[in-house]
Amino acid sequence: MKKLALHWQILLGMVLGVLVALLLNNFSWGANFIGDWIKPFGTIFINALKLIAVPLILASLIKGVSDLKDISSLSKMGLRTISTYVITTVIAVSIGLMVVNVVKPGSTITEDTRNELVEAYGGEAQKRKEQADMQKEAGPLQALVDIVPDNIIGASSNNRNMLQVIFFAIFFGIGLILIPEATSKPVKDFFDGFNEVILKMIDIIMLAAPYGVFALLAALVVEAPSADLFAALGMYAVSVIIGLALMIGVYLLLVWGFTKKTPKFFLNGISPAQLLAFSTSSSAATLPVTMERVEEHLGVKKEVTSFVLPIGATINMDGTSLYQAVAAVFIAQAFGMDLSLGAQLGIIVTATLASIGSAAVPGAGMVMLVIVLAQAGIPEAGLALIFAVDRPLDMCRTVVNVTGDAAVSMMVAKSQGKLGEPHVKNWDDDYKH
Ligand code: ASP
Repeated sequence: MKKLALHWQILLGMVLGVLVALLLNNFSWGANFIGDWIKPFGTIFINALKLIAVPLILASLIKGVSDLKDISSLSKMGLRTISTYVITTVIAVSIGLMVVNVVKPGSTITEDTRNELVEAYGGEAQKRKEQADMQKEAGPLQALVDIVPDNIIGASSNNRNMLQVIFFAIFFGIGLILIPEATSKPVKDFFDGFNEVILKMIDIIMLAAPYGVFALLAALVVEAPSADLFAALGMYAVSVIIGLALMIGVYLLLVWGFTKKTPKFFLNGISPAQLLAFSTSSSAATLPVTMERVEEHLGVKKEVTSFVLPIGATINMDGTSLYQAVAAVFIAQAFGMDLSLGAQLGIIVTATLASIGSAAVPGAGMVMLVIVLAQAGIPEAGLALIFAVDRPLDMCRTVVNVTGDAAVSMMVAKSQGKLGEPHVKNWDDDYKH
């Protein structure tokens, strides 16, 4: 029998997960059964992916930087990467602002619903606010200080410190470029081999992806809040989703325009990573698969993927910034505030910075939203309004975050002459058709 392509397998796993959860939810024991016997497999799957993230970044970035051979190509690529990331993020926030101003989802919220939501989710909103306060209390340069770890083992022990690991890997790679080749060769060969092993491990983990996402989605369905609240927030959710869909369209156009690769080619290559981003709500957990897909299926050379993607997963969050813009204006509308043009332009700046500062884990975008709200003078209690639908929107915005990283890596690769043909290797052949 011909095997289904991986993205179909994952999609099937997702649909079955939702259906099984809806079915079991009809029984009194259903939710407990899913929590005790199905959810753990989802957790194991995510853990396995996260387990790979730090060694993958270390191995691939060290190899990627040292392959560049000289510091000037490194800084050229670095500059191009960061500037493209910032440009796409500003486009994303602008799209978000445009959609939310046209749809005006906040005006559909009645005062009763608003009070009900604030009552139901006020406590949760307070927790997010406290987390954000901790970040705000720090001085203006704290973000910079946080990039430089004082202990690499300590930094590698927490996936939230990805930027610190990236810093160490780039620094190490620079050191490797600067020493004589005879001395650097064994070190490079070691990381080369190490990298191959990690890629093989990802292949093995991905064989379990359909089952993993089945478990993840089943658990999400039984843990979801009541449907009534979803309905009240329907227009807001629709606005975020329209914005995110437009952003995907922007990527397809950019990739097409810059690299002449068709949308079909791009989507076929990246779709398993997108589905995984949707199921895990974490760009960091998806990173190993994003790297494999972009390199092997989109034809971006390793020197580019290993540099552009880990950095993108941590700082380039277009979906998150778009969502922050929509959420901020939605909350303002729900509280009957009229935001001036100046305030909305301010949102472009803060949402861009806040998305750079968001960790690549579930729900991080909402914590940083507090800062966007505070800056624009929008009541932070408004977080309670959007809490009920945050998880599904987190899933959608993570898809955009990951797609954006892939699109930018293709554009950077093209500009550096490092975009080749796809070269599927390993066990991919099993699920390629
Ligand atoms: N979950 C998102 C990510 O990992 C971040 C966020 O918007 O919450 O990309």
